[in-house]
Amino acid sequence: HNLVTQKRYEKPVDFTKIEIAKLPTVMIVGRPNVGKSALFNRLIRRREALVYNTPDDHVTRDIREGVAKLSDLRFRVLDSAGLEAEATSGSVLHRTAGMTANVLSRSQFAIFLTDARAGLHPLDLEVGKWLRKNAPQIKPIVVMNKCESLFDSSGSIATAANEMFRLGFGDPIAISAETGLGLPDLYQSLRPVLEDYMLQVLDEEKTQENSYSEDGCAAEVNESKLPLQLAIVGRPNVGKSTLLNTLLQEDRVLVGPEAGLTRDSIRTQFEFQGRTIYLVDTAGWLQRTKQEKGPSSLSIVQSRKNLLRAHIIALVLDAEEIANARRSMKHAEVVIARRAVEEGRGLVVIVNKMDLLRGKNKSSSYTKVMEAVPQEIQTVIPQITGIPVIFTSALEGRGRTALLHQVIDTYEKWCSRLPTARLNRWLLKVMSRHSWKDHSAQPKIKYFTQVKARPPTFVAFLNGKTKLSDTDIRFLTKSLKEDFDLGGIPIRIMQRFIT
Ligand code: GDP
Ligand code: GDP
Repeated sequence: HNLVTQKRYEKPVDFTKIEIAKLPTVMIVGRPNVGKSALFNRLIRRREALVYNTPDDHVTRDIREGVAKLSDLRFRVLDSAGLEAEATSGSVLHRTAGMTANVLSRSQFAIFLTDARAGLHPLDLEVGKWLRKNAPQIKPIVVMNKCESLFDSSGSIATAANEMFRLGFGDPIAISAETGLGLPDLYQSLRPVLEDYMLQVLDEEKTQENSYSEDGCAAEVNESKLPLQLAIVGRPNVGKSTLLNTLLQEDRVLVGPEAGLTRDSIRTQFEFQGRTIYLVDTAGWLQRTKQEKGPSSLSIVQSRKNLLRAHIIALVLDAEEIANARRSMKHAEVVIARRAVEEGRGLVVIVNKMDLLRGKNKSSSYTKVMEAVPQEIQTVIPQITGIPVIFTSALEGRGRTALLHQVIDTYEKWCSRLPTARLNRWLLKVMSRHSWKDHSAQPKIKYFTQVKARPPTFVAFLNGKTKLSDTDIRFLTKSLKEDFDLGGIPIRIMQRFIT
């Protein structure tokens, strides 16, 4: 056993190479004003993020998530306000307390932040009690903040540390979030525990991989088992934040009248039927669309870089708007749908707020929307038949399962790989069905192969000098989709001459 441990430490984990979704999660907890946001900002190194110092300022009350960089260490860090909670029931603070418990249950580690200048505060003891009750699985690291001036006067830190020791979570670490002093000490105490955690995760993965390769289709299985990256996009007010909450099944993103609540949590993940689904920069997009008005509000997602980070784009439309409009999709929505497909992403269209079309005198609107949306999508994106449309009511929490099944189905199709032998048997049959009337000289496909997945991309190798026409390519694409159940996703076919 000793040998194993030794061997492990010979080769420390390289956190910089680990996928974000797999990194350990560290939550920063503490009473208001100890500097949680300041520490969060320092760890994620996004200086533009604001720090507000009034505890009842709504703007700091949601949970923020980011990737922390501490030397070569990487972890996901969550900043939450609101352990202070219970007293102010009904307010945002109260709601945040529930969220904190929920998120804490998904964190593997916690930094319990205190203020060394203020000394041990009664609320610190409350937080400690709260932690023991709500997250007994986590052994927090106590960190004393605002130590910058205490480092000079010998003894001050020791005095503060003595007090904080009474919290019962071991020796505290002295830092200054504002100046960065003491962060190496934080690194020293985090690194071994995070590394142990990471080694365990990597070990488990290896065991899983081995069991995949035993059934001889390792490549196929692994590819679609990679975490699915989902982006939820749409114009303001269609219900993206509400839908997000439904998906996460927790109040991770607050929706409500308070201004500015959905701020810069970067990434969020959740599990559905044993699969990790990873939401791509959704909060950033939500925030931008909330600030921008009118048709330009999708500009952010139209940038190629942002789009390419997602595998599946879920475009949210508003059922009530559609019922009252001549067209189902506004210009910005058409643009984003086309863009998603052009970039080879899987597209799922969500028609939300269906609950508003229920009841008396509304059934005709209901039917109209159900019929109009798929038709219009077919018109604006004629090259792909069967782009999935899911009808939801995020407000009532309806449609979650259907939506997630669809997202996964689309993703699996998007990841599929067809063996060359099978494709060529198929090619023989399908080419005999095809009429070549556009051509004076008929192109000869020598063989056909899939060169990559995500999205499925094929190459037709040609003998002779005649290229496949657009009609031929369309025919091949259509047949591939029908015969291999690849409908609703972009497929690419390229051609090469064998020289
Ligand atoms: P939170 O409520 O725990 O998120 O606390 P904030 O991050 O909003 O910080 C509360 C106040 O403490 C702000 O005025 C910060 O500028 C200040 N603060 C944060 N970190 C430090 C620090 O390391 N040293 C000093 N002197 N002040 C700090
Ligand atoms: P976002 O701007 O796209 O993030 O939209 P929000 O999630 O903030 O929702 C905008 C408004 O629509 C809020 O008042 C929501 O309560 C409401 N809303 C969201 N989903 C539904 C739904 O399925 N049905 C109804 N009736 N209202 C909804």
